[in-house]
Amino acid sequence: MARPLRADIDLDALRHNYRLARELAPHSQAVAVLKADAYGHGLIACARALEGLAPAFAVACIEEAEALREGGITAPVVLLEGIFEASELERVEALGLWVAVHSDWQLDALLARRPARPTPVWLKVDSGMHRLGFPPERAEAAWRRLSEAPECVTDLHLMSHFATADAVDSAYFHRQSALLAELAERLGAPTCLANSPATLARAEAHGAWNRPGVMLYGSDPLEAANAASRRLRQVMTLHSEIIAVRDLEAGEPVGYGGRWTAPRPSRVGVVACGYGDGYDRHAVDGTPVLVDGRRAAIAGKVSMDMLIVDLTELPEADIGSEVVLWGRASNGEVLSVDEVARHCDTISYTLLTGVLPRVPRRYH
Ligand code: PLP
Repeated sequence: MARPLRADIDLDALRHNYRLARELAPHSQAVAVLKADAYGHGLIACARALEGLAPAFAVACIEEAEALREGGITAPVVLLEGIFEASELERVEALGLWVAVHSDWQLDALLARRPARPTPVWLKVDSGMHRLGFPPERAEAAWRRLSEAPECVTDLHLMSHFATADAVDSAYFHRQSALLAELAERLGAPTCLANSPATLARAEAHGAWNRPGVMLYGSDPLEAANAASRRLRQVMTLHSEIIAVRDLEAGEPVGYGGRWTAPRPSRVGVVACGYGDGYDRHAVDGTPVLVDGRRAAIAGKVSMDMLIVDLTELPEADIGSEVVLWGRASNGEVLSVDEVARHCDTISYTLLTGVLPRVPRRYH
């Protein structure tokens, strides 16, 4: 029998979440963010599932865009970080990509060319994330240079990224949002601002385009869930089984370093999933899993190929019992990847993108 570990990808849930992003922002188009192998869910399968629904896709680099084209995806694809060197522009034009422009050298390289067709451009402004983008006081000059070169540039939009759209405290979000509203108005610019949290909770940031990413995969990025985020459906179920069981005396340690010791006579189960599959080694004792659809807790450090769960309260669990590390169990019970992430002192993004290639993906 094959090692019982797989990631089940529910493409209907992906489409449901995309439709929710559209429903929440009926006057915006939504580019589906598919970078990092569609947040670990499989680039081509997710793009195909969204073809016909999403008018455009977004990725981080030209290699991801090329993979989409090689996979037969013909929809527009935007490079969220633009080009990394000027020589990429030839491929951008050949593949018909859209580009973000966040710095002077990218702008110069773009305007130095005489392409057969102009390239759609999203001018990225740093409104407070302080990562990529033109500072607001230089945005107008950059906008003008681009808009005065219709032979090189078309479909110019103003793009920016929010640092705290997910937070309960809205003060910094409002600062970014007000700055962008003023700038967009002054330039007469259509915008592309909203990531998932802003799509879910900040209607004032909805623009001509939104850029939902993690919400498409069913993770709730909001610090405090709202009515919209509660409608998300988790796309990935990381699914394994109990492959061995042990009965322990009280006080016996489990796993490397014996971090967990049985507080009473206990029964533990070994699950075929470890950090060599991408499961986070920072998972603390008590991190939840579902065994036959019922909650159990990780006991001891995660190993490369296995982790151990306390089955003392689940006497009927045995070798072959279903274990869901996150996602939906056969009985319909759901364990959110967000809850698991909190036990690993991380966010869903790292868990989802961290599922390694040796875990087979199964699409349905
Ligand atoms: N836009 C940009 C520029 C990003 O870097 C990201 C993700 O990191 C997104 C959109 C999507 O963000 P989220 O996954 O939070 O929706």
